[in-house]
Amino acid sequence: MGSRDSSGCTLNFGPNVIAFEIPSSLIHIIEYYNVMAFEEEAMRDISRRRFLKSASGAAALSVISSSTVASASIGAGRLTTVSDGHLVLPMDFAIGPAPREEAAQILAKHGVTGANVQPSCNISVFQDGTNTVLFDVGSGPDFMPSAGALLDNLDTIGLTPEDVTHVLVTHAHPDHIWGLLDDFDEPVFAQAKHMIGRREWDYWWDPETVNSIGEQRMAFAAGARRRFEMMEDVFERFDAGEEVVSGIQAVATYGHTPGHMSFEVRSGGEATLIIGDAIANHHLAFDRPDWPSGSDQDADLGVHTRRALFDRIISDQISVVGFHFPGTGFGNVEKSGDGFVFLEASQ
Ligand SMILES: [Zn+2]
Repeated sequence: MGSRDSSGCTLNFGPNVIAFEIPSSLIHIIEYYNVMAFEEEAMRDISRRRFLKSASGAAALSVISSSTVASASIGAGRLTTVSDGHLVLPMDFAIGPAPREEAAQILAKHGVTGANVQPSCNISVFQDGTNTVLFDVGSGPDFMPSAGALLDNLDTIGLTPEDVTHVLVTHAHPDHIWGLLDDFDEPVFAQAKHMIGRREWDYWWDPETVNSIGEQRMAFAAGARRRFEMMEDVFERFDAGEEVVSGIQAVATYGHTPGHMSFEVRSGGEATLIIGDAIANHHLAFDRPDWPSGSDQDADLGVHTRRALFDRIISDQISVVGFHFPGTGFGNVEKSGDGFVFLEASQ
């Protein structure tokens, strides 16, 4: 679904024609960590953050056009996925603690080769005629030049930030919440009720988290804490099992982060499970669900959660949206041998 050459990278997502051109010099882990480090330094300095934005703008991100990537009715409502762009991550990050050679073979089978992986970022929108519910808000302008396209892509389906009535957060990693605030540190979705799981909030709110989370994720903690400070009075907290919005139930899927939540959107017999990063990829996690993932903060709990989720998805025959699943992120899961396969919904 994409191609790379010496001059850079272009990704095309099928007929939705969402394409990015990024100079190859920027497709590198150093960019990734530099952006995170910048964010940490710039926690309370708006002018610095403007500089950061212009610096990342040098990546010549061009969103040619984009639109809905998938849409399906659930009862009288409609669930749509909208792209926020994609991430560029080092292959080591994708393989994590898995056996390297076997992992590389599985990745190659899925067309993932080279030094980087470039997972899609798919944000779900549920509209039931009364509410317009956004599940996560994407990276915003300051995380990676290849992500942060949500507002443009909402526009293509006729939605403005003011139309959003609810923001539900799966977890507080940068690619899911750094889009909460604009350049002036004002909430982007100013009319929306913002909601997050209590356990997730408490973890990132804790001033000790930045010290205990480990060097690699320190900027994640600083970035989350800064946004939570700015939005302390805006966020409502909920617990697992609660119906947070009519027809939408919070499902505990801890492991990727300590309080990671999924959401089941249901109307009678029709339902979709929005799983955030509880199953964070479509290759290793589907082929070898028992392997620990380097992207999970608690790898053992992540495996346990993933197995339980797969069981639920198969037994309930429920469709899913995976934030980083390929293409639309929207589809069905089937058993295949000892593992599973993701069948992307047709357009
Ligand atoms: Zn993510």
